[in-house]
Amino acid sequence: MQHFFKKSLGQHFLVNKSILKKIVSIKDIKDKIIFEIGPGQGALTKEILLNKPKKLILIEKDTNLKPKLLKLQEKFKDTISYVDDDILNINLKDQIISNLPYNIASTLIIKLIINFDIVESMVFMVQKEVAERLSAKVSTPFYSRLSVLIQLHAVVEKVLEVEPHNFHPKPKVKSTVIKITPISKKKIIYDKLDYILKISFRQRRKTIKNNLKTFCIDAEKRILECGIDPNSRPQDLEPNDYMKLSKALI
Ligand code: SAH
Repeated sequence: MQHFFKKSLGQHFLVNKSILKKIVSIKDIKDKIIFEIGPGQGALTKEILLNKPKKLILIEKDTNLKPKLLKLQEKFKDTISYVDDDILNINLKDQIISNLPYNIASTLIIKLIINFDIVESMVFMVQKEVAERLSAKVSTPFYSRLSVLIQLHAVVEKVLEVEPHNFHPKPKVKSTVIKITPISKKKIIYDKLDYILKISFRQRRKTIKNNLKTFCIDAEKRILECGIDPNSRPQDLEPNDYMKLSKALI
């Protein structure tokens, strides 16, 4: 049966076999428990299976793809579990691999940070710009809330850039495969940090003091006590400075 691609679900299926193989070679899959988000027509799934995982849990929202995926599940009964749900309703753990739907990539990665104590590693294809934001270093143009949130809790590595012609249908943007490895198994205190980051980055051209004083009257004094120059711009503070501020201001 012909499949009608759903733009709203970010359906760009990867058709280049050597890139599919490269993605599954980034982390050791053998005997591991793997979650694949959005298996689509199963292109990446088949490559994962060749590497013999212990369990492969597929989560796909588009029920039109169900017959194809059920067939694959039938063939690999002992390995595959199939869930037809929205990934944002699922609690993920262990190793996660995905050619992520572009429209939910940032939201999903932010949601995952809270589970970094139980996630071992992530290999994701994302829109190039999202990869740039995730890996941006301090004082560079893409450095933002997302960079700080992720880099405080994980190591982000850009592995491979992928041009639009490797997908069907072709996306408008370039993609990048990234590897994210959580740093610590400790439970993450997330809410305060995210709150401070949202306020701090509200206006990049304002100083950190001026951004933060809207919600804390003695912001300048407290910023100084953290050893940070209150006249710095938000993009010039190291990730760890934000951790200090979240402890000192709230
Ligand atoms: N892995 C396949 C398809 C990637 S396209 C390949 O590499 O070719 C992204 C896939 O994610 C699509 O199959 C789409 O239907 C699915 N998807 C989109 N939003 C989703 C969501 N919220 N939850 C689960 N799957 C989703």
